[in-house]
Amino acid sequence: MVPARPATTPQPHDDRLRPRRIAVVGGGPGGLYTAALLKRLAPGREVTVWERGAPDDTFGFGVVLSDETLGGIEHADPVVYEALKRDFVHWDDIDIVHRNTRQTSGGHRFAALGRRRLLEILHDRCHDLGVDLRPRTGAPPPDRLTETHDLVVAADGVRSATREAHRDVFRPHVTAHRCRYIWLAADFAFDAFRFEIAETEHGVMQLHGYPYATDASTVIVEMREEVWRAAGFDALDEAESTARCAKIFADALGGRPLRANKSAWTTFRTVVNERWSHGNLVLLGDAAHTAHFSIGSGTKLAVEDALALAACLQEQPTLGAALAAYEEERRPVVASTQRAAKASLE
Ligand SMILES: Cc1cc2nc3c(=O)[nH]c(=O)nc-3n(C[C@H](O)[C@H](O)[C@H](O)COP(=O)(O)OP(=O)(O)OC[C@H]3O[C@@H](n4cnc5c(N)ncnc54)[C@H](O)[C@@H]3O)c2cc1C
Repeated sequence: MVPARPATTPQPHDDRLRPRRIAVVGGGPGGLYTAALLKRLAPGREVTVWERGAPDDTFGFGVVLSDETLGGIEHADPVVYEALKRDFVHWDDIDIVHRNTRQTSGGHRFAALGRRRLLEILHDRCHDLGVDLRPRTGAPPPDRLTETHDLVVAADGVRSATREAHRDVFRPHVTAHRCRYIWLAADFAFDAFRFEIAETEHGVMQLHGYPYATDASTVIVEMREEVWRAAGFDALDEAESTARCAKIFADALGGRPLRANKSAWTTFRTVVNERWSHGNLVLLGDAAHTAHFSIGSGTKLAVEDALALAACLQEQPTLGAALAAYEEERRPVVASTQRAAKASLE
């Protein structure tokens, strides 16, 4: 397995001012962590993050990181690591449950925490380091930012407008998949990554569940589009869908309810870009690539991108060399994760 970042991850040793003015579009895990690392490595830099949402206005529930990624975080910034460590839940097993039979695969070493808590920790760190955080503010257009800043990091998510503004250069391939899924939560902790398959009168439905706190789990319910329609989910609102999913997966949930948080049925989009940078503009996290949520790696990849970009900017003599090194380092890791995610999705 390729490590999140080699043991040579640079520590702050001087205040190199190149690039000096950095714009980060998007305050998700990828953008915030990049901002914190870049500011920490060179405190004299100006680092600004634009985030159109409010700090606590986040979707979803828990996110998964691996031990390997945590090692990279610990090495790069122990303050963030120590804060994360207090909130992580760890587990080893993957359980697959079908027709009342459970198969367990062990030794996977997962760690998860709430997405909201992760963003709080990263906000606090950015704030303490002096990053200019601009919540509830859309970023200026990318072409303006590339003129006013030495480096523009496009961490604006799967529907990245920055990427789309330069489609001709990045050449994105976006595949929308046919399954519908909804991201929900339950107020108890599964003791494994749980995949449960339900054969209903409308077709096969699947639950993906994993803990993210000692008393909470993420629960994703997924099914093919035609099964979703046949089951009538297209006519149900959020509360009705949530209750219906809890009923279908009552065995897995021990009869407990599910809850929603701006949860909507959606389809997953796999993003692949032929190039990740253009002049002083670079793609990071979901803007650059996505991997199906069933392998729990979207946040992990975004965080690892941030580690790699910060290290390459510190190690390489020019911005061009740094962005080329970043892409060279991350592309094979991302491609391998996307292959695994494709197999999982299928
Ligand atoms: C159902 C589901 C389950 C998932 N499960 C997991 C999991 O178990 N583990 C895991 O690691 N990941 C999971 N993910 C994936 C994870 O949420 C993303 O991969 C991860 O958040 C990527 O981080 P990011 O910073 O690149 O993008 P995002 O978190 O999407 O952040 C992008 C940010 O940019 C902001 N933005 C966009 N445009 C602008 C603009 N013009 N100006 C200002 N702000 C802007 C958005 O508001 C957003 O906050 C899941 C995703 C889904 C949908």
